[in-house]
Amino acid sequence: MYLKVSEIFYSLQGEGVDVGRPAVFLRLAGCNLRCRCCDTAYAWEGGGEVPLETLQERLKSFPCRYLVVTGGEPLLQARGVAGLLELLSSWEFSLETNATLWEPKLLPRFSLVTASPKLPSARVGPFPHGVFSRYLEILPPRLQVKLVVDGEEDWRVLEELLRRYPSLGNGVPLVVQPLERDEGPLEYLTKSRERAEVFLRKAAQWGRKDVRFLPQFHKLLWWGMRGV
Ligand code: SF4
Repeated sequence: MYLKVSEIFYSLQGEGVDVGRPAVFLRLAGCNLRCRCCDTAYAWEGGGEVPLETLQERLKSFPCRYLVVTGGEPLLQARGVAGLLELLSSWEFSLETNATLWEPKLLPRFSLVTASPKLPSARVGPFPHGVFSRYLEILPPRLQVKLVVDGEEDWRVLEELLRRYPSLGNGVPLVVQPLERDEGPLEYLTKSRERAEVFLRKAAQWGRKDVRFLPQFHKLLWWGMRGV
């Protein structure tokens, strides 16, 4: 069995509740969406087919036993991912997914699942309520939800989600991340500050205790670089 791999690297987690934590990142190739402003579009296609045993050896060469499986959309290769987790049974695992696919046997094997369904600015069609609601019903306490926000329409849909799903930001951490458009670190920081002010005003009205606003930490440290 093999996995189609886009890249492997050791770095700091730059998003979500684990921000700043050292991890080995396994980015799998292929995605079932084509989001506008995707920052890993290079992983949509291609990728080398790496046998699981070879992958195991490469991963073990890093000085860390925390693996973040990301993409692309890693659940497109669920069987291979399950096989890899078997081989690395003493490791801790985290998964980043767009929450359009549901793998009930595999998902509980991760200590942290980041569900990142897309808002209107991604232009990928209707919100995946059917699958997303399963994540919220079945996966806590190992679940966080990350929403990338760009404009007014995104804030509107985000607030609809808060009304529809009472556990969002209230038991299930909600991370709001400002969209990065390849504008450069200073512009991204300026835009993030403006969005942070909007977030603070809105969060005061939401009354949810488990909400965070977080620009992409790794982008601020290593803007424009791959494999970090
Ligand atoms: S789901 Fe993620 S990897 Fe796929 S296109 Fe959207 S942002 Fe990119």
